[in-house]
Amino acid sequence: MTKQITILGSTGSIGVQTLDVARMHHIRVWALTANRRIDLLEQQAREFQPELVAVLDKECAKRLRIALSDTTIQVLDGEEGILAAARYEKADTVVNAIVGVAGLKPTLEAIHAGKNIALANKETLVAAGKIVKAAVREAGVQLYPVDSEHSAIFQCLQGCPDNALKKLILTASGGAFFGKKRKDLMNVTVKEALQHPNWSMGSKITVDSATMMNKGLEVIEASWLFDVSDEQIDVLIHRESIIHSMIELKDHAVMAQLGVPDMRIPIQYALTYPQRLSSPVKELDLSVIATLTFSRPDTETFECLPICRQALRKGGLFPAVANAANEAAVQLFLEEKISFLEIPEIVGNTVARWNGHRDILYPEEILAADQEVRSAISR
Ligand code: NAD
Ligand code: MG
Repeated sequence: MTKQITILGSTGSIGVQTLDVARMHHIRVWALTANRRIDLLEQQAREFQPELVAVLDKECAKRLRIALSDTTIQVLDGEEGILAAARYEKADTVVNAIVGVAGLKPTLEAIHAGKNIALANKETLVAAGKIVKAAVREAGVQLYPVDSEHSAIFQCLQGCPDNALKKLILTASGGAFFGKKRKDLMNVTVKEALQHPNWSMGSKITVDSATMMNKGLEVIEASWLFDVSDEQIDVLIHRESIIHSMIELKDHAVMAQLGVPDMRIPIQYALTYPQRLSSPVKELDLSVIATLTFSRPDTETFECLPICRQALRKGGLFPAVANAANEAAVQLFLEEKISFLEIPEIVGNTVARWNGHRDILYPEEILAADQEVRSAISR
């Protein structure tokens, strides 16, 4: 195993599971970054001996520098520190496990430095798919999906001729509030929204699953990754999260990727593609699961999904605007400043009222629109 990686966001749910994969397959880790959880970052640094760690929060970085003063590990801080980790010369692949559009600049920095990208950070593709895809093409690097649905589709597409694809079928667990109607959702709490049936993930994406914004973001992510339109992407509720997604081909053959819900399969595939290596993930025993169920999503109750489709069809800055509104609204919900149902309301109103220009050329335009939306929502 000769992979040389950097992990952006190593202290999060995906970051920790990426280190599990690295540990198992002796993948060399050169740089790690975090927002502020320096206790865990210190522990990771001592185990994996990267040459560089970066912490966004400068105060936390100062404390980590002292804690690691008995080592030769360099500790950088701020956005510049994260960017230095993203372009760190010894890595050939950067795993982006940062949450939110904060991952955009580091992704572009890594691409411009010639790194392959294993991308968990879906918000980057949602907000800036066009720019990221152009940068990937120009730099001649590879972009591997880590999101389980997109990894499933990528796996199903192996060996499939270029023009054979008819549509994608993204599966969705339905999140914490599957089966509920708007009246049942008026007073739901943060704690209830954070109870995902099948996956243990960071708090932002868990709330996104509860509102189904996550599936909306994934529709947009899929459109960029696989070059398909909104009409070519179906969403299917599949409560068990065993089928991670499917593709339908022109002859109506359907290919699916199955497995127990464990992110270490898609993470490992993104790092070892096209090889299949052994894994600590449990084997799937369908005789125990016995039943797999499917249904259509309830888009009247879970409005974020149709709002994202609308943003995708409008194009330009609209997906970035929907994403920014959602990031701001989820933050307010987690701080208990707004109710659960205000999340789709804020995202919907923001998209409906946005009349910025349509085509995007530069990442700065996306980040400016992102800031404008966030400050309009902050309270
Ligand atoms: P998390 O909240 O557990 O971790 C986020 C990581 O990013 C942490 O290391 C944190 O320190 C860092 N971070 C946060 N804000 C930052 C900022 N402004 N600048 C730099 N670093 C920052 O999140 P997660 O659940 O691991 O999700 C990470 C990404 O992967 C998200 O985009 C999510 O949608 C996607 N994803 C996650 C899962 C999952 O199972 N957790 C599955 C599919 C996709
Ligand atoms: Mg997913």
